Amino acid sequence: MKNTVLKIFVVLGLLLASSPGHAWHDQTHLVVAKVAGLRSWYNAAGPDLAKIKTGNIESYNHWFNNNAEAEVTPRMVFEQIERYNERNKLLDSEGHIYGAIIASLRAYEKDLRAGKYAKYHLAYCAHYIADLSQPLHNIPYDNFNQKVHDINDGIVEETILNEPQKIIQHMYVIKLHQDNFEEDLAREIARIANISRKLGYKLRAENRSITKEEAYVQLGHSASLFKAVLQHHQ
Ligand SMILES: [Zn+2]
Repeated sequence: MKNTVLKIFVVLGLLLASSPGHAWHDQTHLVVAKVAGLRSWYNAAGPDLAKIKTGNIESYNHWFNNNAEAEVTPRMVFEQIERYNERNKLLDSEGHIYGAIIASLRAYEKDLRAGKYAKYHLAYCAHYIADLSQPLHNIPYDNFNQKVHDINDGIVEETILNEPQKIIQHMYVIKLHQDNFEEDLAREIARIANISRKLGYKLRAENRSITKEEAYVQLGHSASLFKAVLQHHQ
């Protein structure tokens, strides 16, 4: 009996420890999608709305806690694809945002081929690519992460809608080749993930939130990558 109770507490502890809150706040998501060129940019906060109804089916697509603090590789990105929309908290407690980016595009293409209304999948992709550059979505969800998470997510929220230029000025060209699209995309996801997690460690070491300027640079990575994805898909 004692053992069972103890096990329940351990499991509950794990569940609580691995449930990050939000991500970049709504308007920040909208602006990333807009400056990247998504015509229906106004849908880009939708995946956060989906969380309150679908719970873990959706929320695990928004982060990778990387408890081992390991270098993110393209291989890791590919390994996460099949976990898209999965809700196995115990076997997948770290989340799978990297795979979700490619999986959402596969879902888009599948619905497109079937003649269905497919463009909501692009809004999911836009959202995940924006979350990719949020440092706190790429590092363990420890005390530090929990403490500063919300401040970081909303750091440019109040001003960004009127200042898209602050992101645009940090955008650059990313090439995703038609004949090597997923491999190129996985490499770019891993690259931005590694930049983001390293910034996360820096914030943690310095025990502070992200600055606005650091956030604009991060959002510039996301907008650049999503723009390259759209050039392939739209
Ligand atoms: Zn999110």
